[in-house]
Amino acid sequence: MRLVTFKTGYGARLGAVDGEHVVDLNAAYTALLASQGVRRAAAHARAAVPADATRFLGEGPDAVRRAEEAVAFVRDAQIPGVRVSRRGLALLPVVPRPPKIICVGLNYRDHAEETGMSIPEHPVFFSKFTSCLIGAGEPIVLPRVSEQLDYEAELAVVIGRPGRYILEREASGHVAGYTILNDVSVRDYQMRTSQWLIGKVFDRSTPVGPELVTAGEVPQPEALRLSARVNGRVLQDSSTSNFIFSIPRVIAAISEILTLEPGDLIATGTPAGVGFARKPPVFLRDGDTVTIEVERLGALTNPVTAERAPAGARGARAVAERA
Ligand code: ZN
Repeated sequence: MRLVTFKTGYGARLGAVDGEHVVDLNAAYTALLASQGVRRAAAHARAAVPADATRFLGEGPDAVRRAEEAVAFVRDAQIPGVRVSRRGLALLPVVPRPPKIICVGLNYRDHAEETGMSIPEHPVFFSKFTSCLIGAGEPIVLPRVSEQLDYEAELAVVIGRPGRYILEREASGHVAGYTILNDVSVRDYQMRTSQWLIGKVFDRSTPVGPELVTAGEVPQPEALRLSARVNGRVLQDSSTSNFIFSIPRVIAAISEILTLEPGDLIATGTPAGVGFARKPPVFLRDGDTVTIEVERLGALTNPVTAERAPAGARGARAVAERA
């Protein structure tokens, strides 16, 4: 199943891709229950197939099975209003408000080398906040304080079943699915201090999506080609087979520290070819288009838009000079 979260006049809704359409899963399941004569169908559907992605993932495989039934029902019964055209749909991050966003730094040998960092003995982790996230097609904001905005192509794991002290051999059972994340980084801030956080958490910096592809459709997540293109030029092109730390190792390592919960996102690191390490460097500019593609998961495309200075504010240069 391929899940999306899309914007409507009445809030964010979880949908499933069905050919050229997207099915509103909660509305479809409500229609299915109503057709079976279930009383208070909407209330039951709210709990069984929630419209919010995090809550949906919390319901586990049962919710996915119900969602599949609902998709088939509305396709056959031709229920109006529940299926919308995929074209022109405004997408939000597949999981709009994940409980946690944990990123692996330096998980590809060639990327560690290009940045001059040593190959880590333990996975390097940092985090992002939900305020960073944007959906496919939404503009990546080039902050007015920076001139070094950079892209990073990454496979992201979405957690389904919660767990603490998860064993490597059991890790795959905790994965709901996979998506694409562009770990956009503000390098001039990232490199100011030994902690990378400030360069990784700018508002509306981080595209995630377009789809959450459930784990059953991605049998070999560590054999996926991934790439980054800026205005059509290929700047990263590698494979998740080049991970230093496997997905099970990463899940085991994180869950030694904290409880992984449904909807948590884990970005698995980026391969060589990022902008700041290129000679000459490539940084994202106003009007650029960035596409991250991961085999089986699709393509995540976003424009880059310079942040507009509020009226009366000083320009980026003045802010940067003061800093
Ligand atoms: Zn990254």
